[in-house]
Amino acid sequence: MTTPRLAAHDLAVAFDGRVVLDGIDFAVSAGEIAVIEGPSGGGKSTLLRALATLQALTRGRLTLDGALASAMTPPVYRVRVAYVPQLPVMFAGTVADNVRAGPMLRGIVLTDARVSDLLVRAALGPAMAARTATDLSGGEKQRVAIARALANEPSVVLFDEPTSALDPESGDAVLAQIRACARAGQAVVVVTHSREQARALGGTHHVCEGGHLRPEGHA
Ligand code: ADP
Ligand code: MG
Repeated sequence: MTTPRLAAHDLAVAFDGRVVLDGIDFAVSAGEIAVIEGPSGGGKSTLLRALATLQALTRGRLTLDGALASAMTPPVYRVRVAYVPQLPVMFAGTVADNVRAGPMLRGIVLTDARVSDLLVRAALGPAMAARTATDLSGGEKQRVAIARALANEPSVVLFDEPTSALDPESGDAVLAQIRACARAGQAVVVVTHSREQARALGGTHHVCEGGHLRPEGHA
């Protein structure tokens, strides 16, 4: 059996002693879309933040290509595992500044052409590059966050309700891009409360409910 790209082993999270996730085992491989579906409050976003190492664990461990995440520094982990929150926060400056931010931390300056390409992949026109990021609508910010996440060429991409702020047309374009990420070999995790979207994405299917995750096989 091949080593999964990202895996969670017996993971648990509690807030002020209240257990929100318990006994979570999860794995996603290169080229796979893992869809995590479930009701509001079921723990999906907490699980995704945990996979992004943005959430302290009360138990369990994460491995990336078989290596313990806890042994990696946050910058190293976050270049390889990108996280697109449901309500992303824009950095000050233009959209292009936002898209360039990740690679810039490693001294890499993306060309205008590369920024345009990333914006198009996130279902935004290249003309967005010059806009002030903090002035954008929620749906535009969500797509800038996708371009920003892809800029680091991560091996895992975590999406939290990626189409929640989008009109159907932009939503479909983003879903097409998510499939393209998997085809290009990235391991993709998508959280959604929509059974319809879970089915539309295909891939492996998990249900997160009451703090537990159960596999449902293929959508
Ligand atoms: P979902 O994304 O499936 O709607 P969440 O992961 O956001 O669910 O939330 C799961 C549970 O954890 C909810 O009861 C929520 O209120 C609680 N929760 C999430 N984040 C926090 C936090 N930072 N502090 C306390 N409780 C939290
Ligand atoms: Mg959520």
